[in-house]
Amino acid sequence: MAEKSILYDASKCTACRGCQVACKSWNEREAEKTTERGTLENPPDLSPQTWLKMELREVGNNGNLRWLFTRRSCMHCKDAACVKVCPTGALYYHPLGFVSYDRGKCSGCGYCKEFCPFDVPRLDTNRGSGLGRMDKCTACTTFGLDRIDEGYSPACVKTCPTGALTYGYRETLLTTGQARVQELIVKGYKNAYLYGDKEVGGTHVLYVLDDSPSVYGIVENPKVPGAAIAWQDVIKPLGYVAVGLVGIGLLLNVMVARAKMLNGKGEK
Ligand code: SF4
Ligand code: SF4
Repeated sequence: MAEKSILYDASKCTACRGCQVACKSWNEREAEKTTERGTLENPPDLSPQTWLKMELREVGNNGNLRWLFTRRSCMHCKDAACVKVCPTGALYYHPLGFVSYDRGKCSGCGYCKEFCPFDVPRLDTNRGSGLGRMDKCTACTTFGLDRIDEGYSPACVKTCPTGALTYGYRETLLTTGQARVQELIVKGYKNAYLYGDKEVGGTHVLYVLDDSPSVYGIVENPKVPGAAIAWQDVIKPLGYVAVGLVGIGLLLNVMVARAKMLNGKGEK
């Protein structure tokens, strides 16, 4: 199936935060208590209740001050570290390429949080049961709240009033994004850049930036930690072998015990 993506064009964003509110509203996330922190940016960080957060940043000096806006949420990596390390299969690839999540399967181990190169998953540990659960953006593919299966765009895209967010086939959005970057370069933004085309093998959320990623506070050259690769390629298979050996051991135990029992009966 052809992969789909979200294109975020920072040069068209006004930081109205309609996307942030639409995400909370559609995904039934609770409002969080906010405090005056001397910024329009709130809440202070992603959380189990805030899957998408707009970040506001002032750069430059007094004579040349710029206000830059960035979307902070899951990047829906093509080769996702979180999927590699998740031991329960709670994180998985949606047929359209997004990284979906089955909350019911999450054990709360927190490996996805440790290995994500973009520091996205957040653990909810305040549960009556004492069990933790991870939470993050699912690109509106959450079971029971699935907009994508119904043929709709994600809630954030649907609500964006400026056209900064677009939903569509990844190949098409890459072309759109590259064209926009060229347009910005011609306008004098010589460091304009399309983020997510190549980073960590490609992501399903793409950013058009009118300056280099570091100016926007976005991690340059993100890397999937080697331990995540080892986890998938070595430790997980070893785990399956160990589980298999335990199973074989148990089976042998049962067979031996049964043989002994039968022999015992024969001796009487
Ligand atoms: S950004 Fe992090 S949580 Fe999202 S898909 Fe990539 S590794 Fe997983
Ligand atoms: S809804 Fe659109 S313009 Fe408003 S903050 Fe989100 S991306 Fe920016």
